Amino acid sequence: MSQHRYSLTFLGVGAGLSPELGNNNVLVENEDRSAHLLVDCGPVTAHELKLAGRLQDIRNVFITHVHDDHVGGLQLWAQLNRYVFQQTPALYFREELWEELWPATMRGGLERVSGPAGEPLTVGLDAYFEVHRLLEAQTVEIPGLPVLTPRLGLHVPGKPSFGFFLGEDVFFSADSQQLPPTVGPTGKPLRVIFQDCQLFDFPNGVHTSLARLNRELPPEQKAITRLMHYNYEPDMDARAMGFWGFVPRNEPVWV
Ligand SMILES: [Zn+2]
Ligand SMILES: [Zn+2]
Repeated sequence: MSQHRYSLTFLGVGAGLSPELGNNNVLVENEDRSAHLLVDCGPVTAHELKLAGRLQDIRNVFITHVHDDHVGGLQLWAQLNRYVFQQTPALYFREELWEELWPATMRGGLERVSGPAGEPLTVGLDAYFEVHRLLEAQTVEIPGLPVLTPRLGLHVPGKPSFGFFLGEDVFFSADSQQLPPTVGPTGKPLRVIFQDCQLFDFPNGVHTSLARLNRELPPEQKAITRLMHYNYEPDMDARAMGFWGFVPRNEPVWV
């Protein structure tokens, strides 16, 4: 079976408290860039895409979880789409995120708008987006891209957070304190792993550390692991440790 190439471009590589490295949000695109999916939309990403004139082109976003570095740019994106771009892009997220995403985060800024005659008007998230609240076993299918299969992870205990598979053999951990799996959604061994990784070895119950990944991942898994969501500019050689390496910022990683 021929493999369709596609790329992941990290618009930022920083952890939540390291916005100087951008937000660890990713643009997935096919080879001729006719299909795309943005994974998460933090405040740095939204501003950078706006300044580059690219925010208007984003028509599909998948949200992994509700932390500022992953959803803090959504209000800007929502308002630009409604009032400036006059388009209704697709917003995908697992149903478990709803309470944190709309009632607890976005509603305060987006619910009250001015009606046609200046009267008060109350709107929902669907005034801004084509909302896809994914149920268990539902996938994100965008023509031209591999199927995205969400996978419940463990990030902050008790907080819903989803990594995902792309196609059969690529895994993206999102923010996670777990080690990656070894096989994809159909049981096929993984070919590529994108893994959350903090650079200090301090068990904080939120993220995986580089030291733990180095200790606990077998060599063959380390070799396919691309490290992301790091908290300072790395000063160690991940390739020498046996990893694929750290993901670069703003350069496509082809898979
Ligand atoms: Zn994060
Ligand atoms: Zn997080």
